[in-house]
This record gives sequence, structure tokens and C-alpha cells, in this order.
Amino acid sequence: MVGTESKYLKENASFPFCKGCGHHHYVNYLDEALTKLNLDPEHVCIVSDIGCIGILDSLFSTPHTFHTTHGRSTAFATGIELADGILNDSKLKSIVVIGDGGSTIGLLHIVNAAMMNIDVTVLVANNFLYGMTGGQHSHFSPLDFVTPTTPAGNIVPPLDICSIVKSCGAQFVKQAVVTDKNLSSIVAEAIRYPGFALVEIFELCTEWATPFNKIDGKMLSSKVQFAEEDLPALRKEFSELYKEKILSVPLKKSDDGIEQKYSSPLRGTKRIVFAGTAGEKVQLASYLTMRAAIGSKLHATQKNDNPVTQGSGFSLSEVCLSSEEILYTGIDVPDVVIIASADGLKEVRANGILQRCRKNSLVLAEQTLPEFECGGTVLRLALRSLCTGSRASLSAFAAFNEITGWIPREAMNETFEQKFKEKSALYEKDIASLKPALAALLPKGVPV
Ligand code: SF4
Ligand SMILES: [Mg+2]
Repeated sequence: MVGTESKYLKENASFPFCKGCGHHHYVNYLDEALTKLNLDPEHVCIVSDIGCIGILDSLFSTPHTFHTTHGRSTAFATGIELADGILNDSKLKSIVVIGDGGSTIGLLHIVNAAMMNIDVTVLVANNFLYGMTGGQHSHFSPLDFVTPTTPAGNIVPPLDICSIVKSCGAQFVKQAVVTDKNLSSIVAEAIRYPGFALVEIFELCTEWATPFNKIDGKMLSSKVQFAEEDLPALRKEFSELYKEKILSVPLKKSDDGIEQKYSSPLRGTKRIVFAGTAGEKVQLASYLTMRAAIGSKLHATQKNDNPVTQGSGFSLSEVCLSSEEILYTGIDVPDVVIIASADGLKEVRANGILQRCRKNSLVLAEQTLPEFECGGTVLRLALRSLCTGSRASLSAFAAFNEITGWIPREAMNETFEQKFKEKSALYEKDIASLKPALAALLPKGVPV
């Protein structure tokens, strides 16, 4: 039965644990530690994990409690502490209640919190096995430990959580046996500590450990190696450091602001696919199109695609331009497809874009590409010979805009100037190179 004097625990609640289980002491010592510190329950957050120890939160009534998924309690506590430390006044004390099973599953979250020196206190209830799910061995089971999954004894050395977090820069690291009389003081010190603190608490699972192993208080005491005096808090706690080093530095003025001083004649939404070869500025051409469109009071989105290797094979970009807010960025039927190279053609064939073209779709393709099946209107331009291969995508972008007129020429020029500075004249040069070819094409009419 839980004590009635506590300002943190429920009155007269029954312990849910098996007889003799170490978790009884764990709850009582945690309550004692909170009482010693006299923390306002409003400023305590108990973040629990899986396993028998995880149901401890149901015994607490006044602090915040947060029951999380397998091994993730430290990650949740990290987020809670970051929000409290950076956005608030660091009033909250977050305490992670986790067993050896949860610590096995979520080890990297503990490592991460230790590396960052987040102000969380991790209380590892180590009874060397997964008690709730049938006594399976965990990464914390000692050598020769007998469990249902290690019937001949565990042959893998146990994981040493204290050494791991110490190697990550943790400075408050202690071990204790759950029956130690001074455990509440150790836990209180850990909670008070301004930064990451971990206490590994050795316990007995009377259901699965004691029936099969010679395990007693002496054996548990022999496990305690990290009981030395605290080191001074040499490292700054993360949110303090973040405020000092990051938040205090004024942000550089972003050069990403796009002044909307032009006006596009486009009404409605147009969906454009740029396809070419990696390294030939396909995605840059799309990006510049998008920026110029935004500068012309349009809404714009861009989605890029390329093979796993970034610098070889195809490069593809899907751009939506609209006078309305864009709520769907997919391209079912393209309005324009620009194909600047053989790699690009291969990809738009393979991913079905060409097959989805309709009569009103304009397909602007490099002249030297082989014939291809397509339901749209195909215009061919000598992009690679007139403007060179490495500029094929940028020149296709210039040609596209000369044909459609969706983006004012001034907006395009300005976008180029911002990007290429003294080389910005190349945009006009591309247009000049393409002009005769465009003039030959345009009288035939284009569908867009
Ligand atoms: S199964 Fe083991 S760990 Fe779980 S409550 Fe029972 S004794 Fe405790
Ligand atoms: Mg356990």
C-alpha cells in the first residue's frame, strides 16, 4: 500500500508489483527524494517507459506523468526538457522511469541525452531481464544468468550503461542497490543536478530472476562500481548553452526574401516537369523558375527526384505554378514537360509522365533525342548545340518561358542576376541563341 503522507503519490493506492519485487522500494525512494527536495508537483514530470516499472506512473497523482512507448521515454523527456529549458524558465524536472529492457531498446536516446547534457534524470531499474513479458534476458543480464531465453546461462557480457553514458560526457552517474538506505538521497541529488544524470538501480525480479539464479543482496551490492562522489557540473546544461551560444546570436538577414514586384498573367494552376541529367542544373533551373514565379505574385512548389547517387543519372524536378494557393503538389497530367537529355527522357518514360500527357500538354524536348511516344504536343529545340549541354536545362527554362510567357522577362532576369551575378547575361544570350528556333516553332501555335 502506498503511504498516505506523500504529496506526490495517490492515497491508499495498491502497488501493482509481485511480492518482493524491487520496484516497491524504487517507488518509495523516488517519492522520498521528491519529498526531500520539496518540489512543487507542478514542476515534476515523470516520464515512464515499458515494463513493470513503467506502470509506476499510475501511483503518482500530483506530478505530471507521461507514459511512453518502448524505450522512447528519454527521447520524450528530452523534448519536454528542451521546450521547458528554451521556451520557458527551466522550472520543470523530468525524471525518466525505465527498466533494463527499455534501456536496451532505447539506448541511443539515453546516449543522445547524455551527449547533449539535457537536464533529465534517468533512473534505470535494472533487474537483468524483461519481467513483464516473461523473463527474457536483456542486454543487461550478467554472464551465466538463467532466463527462459538463456536456459543454459547468458553467454554474452552485459552492457555497461554507466560506462557508456560516461563516455558520452555524462557527469552524474551512479549505481546503487534498490534497498540501499541512502538511495533516496542519491536520487534527490540526481534530480537536483543541473544536467544529465543517470542512476542505475540494481533490483531483484522475484518472479523470473530469483527462482533460477543465485541472486541476493550481496550479489547486487557487488555490481555497484559507480558510487563515488559527484564531479562538479563541468559542462553547461544544453538549454543554457543553447540560449548562450545560439539564441543570443542575431540571425543573419536572410537573402531568401522574394520581393513580389512583378505580375504574372497566369490564371489557374500549371504543372511542369523538368527532366535532364544530374549536374546539368535541372533542379536549379526549376528553383529559379519557382523564385521568379513567386516574385511575379504566383504560388509555387518544387519537388526534386534523382537516383540514390546524387551526381549521376537522371535529375527531375516537378514544379507547380498557380495564381491560387497550391493544395496538391502532385502531377497527374503535366501541362509542360521539358526534356533536356537522354537521361531525362529515360526517366519520364519509366515513371509514366510521358504516358500521362494529353493533347494540351506541351513537351519541349532536346532535338537530338530519339523519337518517343507521347500524347502531348512535342516541340524540339537544339538546346544542347545552341546553348551547350551544361546549360541545356537553363536554356530549356528560358525557352519554356519565352513560349508560355507565364513569368515576366524582368522577373527572370532579376532571378538570374541574383543567382549568377556577372554571368547573368547568359540568360539573355540563351534567349538570343534560341530565338530563331523559337520563332520557327511559335507560329505553329503551342497548346499552353
Ligand atoms: S514480474 Fe518481476 S519485475 Fe515484474 S512485478 Fe513481478 S517481480 Fe517485479
Ligand atoms: Mg527489467
